[in-house]
Amino acid sequence: MNPWFGKAVVLLGAIVMVVIRAPHGQRSRGVRIARSRRGSLEVALLALAWVAFFVPLVWIASPLLAFADYPLHAVPWVLGVLTLAYALYLFYRSHADLGANWSITLEVREGHTLVTEGIYRGVRHPMYSSLLLYGLGQALAVPNWIAGPSYLVAIAVLFALRVNPEERMMLEEFGPRYEQYMARTKRLVPRVW
Ligand code: SAH
Repeated sequence: MNPWFGKAVVLLGAIVMVVIRAPHGQRSRGVRIARSRRGSLEVALLALAWVAFFVPLVWIASPLLAFADYPLHAVPWVLGVLTLAYALYLFYRSHADLGANWSITLEVREGHTLVTEGIYRGVRHPMYSSLLLYGLGQALAVPNWIAGPSYLVAIAVLFALRVNPEERMMLEEFGPRYEQYMARTKRLVPRVW
């Protein structure tokens, strides 16, 4: 297959992601932060995620990563497109359900409420599930050993290093309510893990 099929997927996915997040980013700027845990690890993880998000765009726009290209095949491309579509749906739903409680980093907002319904009913981190799936979809649809898996690797690192501090923060904020919520939910995959 022509590698432009992979490039089109990256461009379209990036645009949809930005369109989904933009209104939440804008709104969150207007909601005061009550408590922030944005330490140096958070800053490094956010920078890593941003760089990894742009690597596939660099692959499209320049020949810099061409040395790591491989031929694109229809089956992984189709699987990648389906995974990306589902990931973007989850990304949309998790933003919609989290509403004004969303932050790009570890923060508690003024008037923060604990969300336990909608897509948060069965899993505590559906947004991270969506980002991991997005990374997986891109790894399948992008025929390049660096640009393909870059986002998946970055989000896996972000998740591994952030999930415990985030759950600790939520426990300190919401106490037994978050404890009960933890007891009846999984982290990423409903009923599984
Ligand atoms: N980990 C979640 C949310 C990611 S956004 C997910 O993957 O879906 C990160 C911010 O969301 C955190 O700073 C925290 O303030 C907030 N948050 C996380 N879980 C929440 C919940 N169940 N209810 C309300 N806010 C939550």
